[in-house]
Amino acid sequence: MKTKKRIRKRRIICCILIIIFIILATHFSFGFLEPKPVMQLRGKATIELPVKSNYVEEGVDATYKGEDVSNEIQTIGNVDTDHIGEYKINYEFGKSGKLERTIKVIDKEKPKIELKGGRIVNLTKGTSYNEDGYEAQDNYDGDLTNKVTIEQIKVNDFQDKLIYHVTDLSGNEATEERYINYTEKSGKSVIYLTFDDGPSQYTTPKILDILKSENVPATFFILNYDKKKEPILKREVEEGHSIGIHGYSHEYKKIYKSEDTYMKNIKDLQNKIKESTDINTNITRFPGGSSNTVSKFNPGIMSRLSREVLKEGFLYYDWNVSSGDSGDVKTSTGVYNNVTKGLRKGRDNVVLMHDFANNKKTVEALRGIIEYGKKNGYEFKKITNETPMVTQRILN
Ligand SMILES: [Zn+2]
Repeated sequence: MKTKKRIRKRRIICCILIIIFIILATHFSFGFLEPKPVMQLRGKATIELPVKSNYVEEGVDATYKGEDVSNEIQTIGNVDTDHIGEYKINYEFGKSGKLERTIKVIDKEKPKIELKGGRIVNLTKGTSYNEDGYEAQDNYDGDLTNKVTIEQIKVNDFQDKLIYHVTDLSGNEATEERYINYTEKSGKSVIYLTFDDGPSQYTTPKILDILKSENVPATFFILNYDKKKEPILKREVEEGHSIGIHGYSHEYKKIYKSEDTYMKNIKDLQNKIKESTDINTNITRFPGGSSNTVSKFNPGIMSRLSREVLKEGFLYYDWNVSSGDSGDVKTSTGVYNNVTKGLRKGRDNVVLMHDFANNKKTVEALRGIIEYGKKNGYEFKKITNETPMVTQRILN
């Protein structure tokens, strides 16, 4: 009896085991035998996405048993492009079709530092600079003003440079610069005669003759010149005048097209002047002045350039007395009146005139202007790289 019962019990256990085996076998081995879908990600497996930009789902190419099933893929996961982080998107088809994509939402944009007050500050030697203030904003981290550090660097005896530095939480760095010019408290009345747009065949030699006979130095902001005009440039140097860079070209549309075109425009001429005269000048004047609005076709270009030229070791000089000889003024009396009325005692007077072709009125007014200056106690100087920059307000 006992053995019979035992045998029956064993048979039942065996049956149960066989049933379990069949269930498992159908479940798994048929799964193994089943063909897998062929899946491939469209686009990259890892994508770096700037924060606050759009994530565009590219999807997956998939075929199953020779048929296109790309539209039947299940896409699981979410990308929050407003927040930095690593996100996963899973693509699934049936039991065996699985792919994954990683999306890294990152902050690559630099913060922006906005300087209050002037970018160039003129101070009397011996006084110290009171910070005019600044703000730093980041597209992701928000206000970073209290993270800004300031470094003060001595450029030379007449100039310091302040470097404002800030890094956002993602490690993107930004810098800004401010220049401080120290002028001697001389209270002297100085005239810097400056001539733009030369050298020219007729006008420049006539101007040089007058300067020579009056024993007065001047500054020539020149344009590109040919072989015929090269001796005039050499004469300017030999007779002790300063050479400044106005630019290889004066064509506003061309030169203010970009930072690169402008920098090339002054560097090309700088190199040419060096070849002709062995002088390496870093004195420049923007065509139209730094306050020009003719460059408005490229918004903000003058703000950017005024920084860029200083960064690259150039100085730029506008003027605070305009002769008007390239504009409305048509007579030598007009030129004389504009200059003498614009002069102020106790300061650096930078006088804008032109030595372009056939500028007779300025040639005729020049001696009178020099005599007026001498009679009224002005000293004549040329611009060197120790002359404090005289600059106008940037309007673009
Ligand atoms: Zn000019």
